[in-house]
Amino acid sequence: ARLANQIAAGEVVERPASVTKELIENAIDAGSHRIEVDIEQGGARLIKVRDDGIGIGQQDLPLALARHATSKIGSLEDLEGVSSLGFRGEALASISSVSRLELVSNASEDPTDGWRVVAEGRSMEARVSPAPHPRGTSVSVRDLFFNTPARRKFLRTEKTEFAHVEEAFRRQALSRYDISWVLRHNQKVVHQLPAVDSAASRERRISSLLGRNFIEHARYIERQAGSLRLSGWVGLPTHSRSQADQQYFFVNGRVVRDRLVAHAVRQAYRDVLYNGRHPVFVLYLDLDPDVVDVNVHPTKHEVRFRDGRMVHDFLFSSLHHCLAHTQP
Ligand code: ADP
Ligand code: MG
Repeated sequence: ARLANQIAAGEVVERPASVTKELIENAIDAGSHRIEVDIEQGGARLIKVRDDGIGIGQQDLPLALARHATSKIGSLEDLEGVSSLGFRGEALASISSVSRLELVSNASEDPTDGWRVVAEGRSMEARVSPAPHPRGTSVSVRDLFFNTPARRKFLRTEKTEFAHVEEAFRRQALSRYDISWVLRHNQKVVHQLPAVDSAASRERRISSLLGRNFIEHARYIERQAGSLRLSGWVGLPTHSRSQADQQYFFVNGRVVRDRLVAHAVRQAYRDVLYNGRHPVFVLYLDLDPDVVDVNVHPTKHEVRFRDGRMVHDFLFSSLHHCLAHTQP
């Protein structure tokens, strides 16, 4: 089972940023109001995510790490079948197979309660020991890839790995304004984002994540057509390469990189007056979950609309209208 997990880890665990993303997703799934992320040495030494969610009970703690571990893959010969399996529900098991993972959690309201379980590479400590923790969960991932040197070697500099972690954090923080967030690197606060209670504090969050320049030159957009709703900020296109990657598009709260979406946005910008510059935007498309599939791929960055044409036209016309009324 640990072998299967290590193979699965290749899918889910590419670098510290992918671990961070999985841990944050779990914290969100647990209904957390506050999520704190601590990174050391770009995540190569430590990735820790602490939340105040529902927690994991004593009985379930070992299961959280071992879940779905009864894979049929027993040897490398069976590897071919792997690509057809979606490694859903295996993030923690996968991560723990290539790191030293500690899970501390408390599912009760009693702050003196709490339990801890650790897993290190291929071996998991079966014993669950008491460890007081406020209601919620802390997951610490130390020494990522310590037992897979080939992969450890592929880690980039501390600065680069942290930049990827920060980007993963940014996407999540832009998707849930109702959660308060903290990101620290080597014990220094990088982002501290209170939960949002007004339009102004939404913009404060954007400003702190994407820079003052973005929000000062962005235009707020809000359009609805039938069950489609588009909202967010459309920035002034920039010549600056450093801002060229400030393109965030969320579908029902999940960040996506989608061809159809990209095309509609590009067309709208191109059609107005910004030829040759990079569009920058933070946009939220909400639509009936029945007409979109956001789980096309395990990393969930792709999306499939049932009526792509309609979505494309809606995006194009909404953005076109907005941009046409924006002075550069
Ligand atoms: P998945 O999230 O796909 O179920 P994971 O391996 O990421 O798989 O997590 C396994 C399980 O551990 C989750 O289904 C959940 O029950 C539990 N779990 C993980 N992280 C947390 C958390 N932060 N708070 C509460 N439960 C958690
Ligand atoms: Mg998960």
